[in-house]
Amino acid sequence: APIDCYAVLGHPIHHSLSPQIHAAFATQTGEVLRYSALDVAPAELAATLARLPADGFRGVNITVPHKESAWAYVAQQGTLTERAAMAGAVNTLAWKTTGLLGDNTDGQGLLNDLQQRHALSLRGKRVLLLGAGGATRGVVLPLLAAAPAALVIANRTAARATELADLFAHKAVAAGTLLHGCGLAALPQVVNTTGTFDMVINATSASLGGEAIALPPGTITTDGFAYDMMYGKTPTPFLIAQQQAGVTRLADGLGMLVEQAAVAFTLWRGVVPATQPVYNALREQLARP
Ligand code: NDP
Repeated sequence: APIDCYAVLGHPIHHSLSPQIHAAFATQTGEVLRYSALDVAPAELAATLARLPADGFRGVNITVPHKESAWAYVAQQGTLTERAAMAGAVNTLAWKTTGLLGDNTDGQGLLNDLQQRHALSLRGKRVLLLGAGGATRGVVLPLLAAAPAALVIANRTAARATELADLFAHKAVAAGTLLHGCGLAALPQVVNTTGTFDMVINATSASLGGEAIALPPGTITTDGFAYDMMYGKTPTPFLIAQQQAGVTRLADGLGMLVEQAAVAFTLWRGVVPATQPVYNALREQLARP
């Protein structure tokens, strides 16, 4: 039989760590597969997705800037998991015998990282989520499923945060979570009226541009946790600022990256890879000059 093929689709794609992560998972689990990185221009995405199954591809990961357009493709041609449907973005596609499936494993990846690498449960916690872009959309439903006491989405453009809070309002009610969307500028008032947060998650791309996000003093409890979804150069400007503000428990997004890949790998292959050895190897590699 021809070898099962997988790939990550992005534009640009040369910096992606996904081929290395999935190759390590395959070696570790004894799964025989090929995983490559495909640079796909936005105008070529639909045609590429249509052609891949005939070329032996059983699944792909989707990254910037294709997560929303791939979602639209699956919405037309296949089935979306609920978490992907609500996110409006997919990061994992699988061509199954039953057809094309679109999923978003980012949120589960984040939760798995928090639980396994940081022994952190969100149940009953007050969580502040910064940003309202694709990364935020992908994690809101899984975060609500972890039943935090409160989830505040704060974004530079306030309207995008309040829209997200509206979209997920019924899910928040079911989870028993107080969900609120606001502008970053309204945070001092939110902290004043509702109290400090146990955890802040940066899902903005501000760190990519070397920018920190200034949070009002006392936003996070001193024994709280600061998480930046960005990975690569660490510590990120956001984590440095949080450290200077007295927060001692900090993490970047490398664990989330490995965990979201593991959820995708399990969806494709039906086996659960061990993530810690892969995480350790990447951490060591990124620390090298
Ligand atoms: P988007 O472009 O979709 O969204 C960007 C968000 O960042 C918007 O909410 C935008 O606010 C905000 N933003 C950008 N610059 C600033 C700034 N200077 N100050 C304040 N807010 C700012 O990006 P994504 O959501 O796709 O990705 C966000 C980050 O998450 C990236 O760094 C990405 O690498 C990371 N990520 C990590 C993953 C992992 O596995 N570790 C998985 C997915 C993403 P506005 O609406 O006002 O423009």
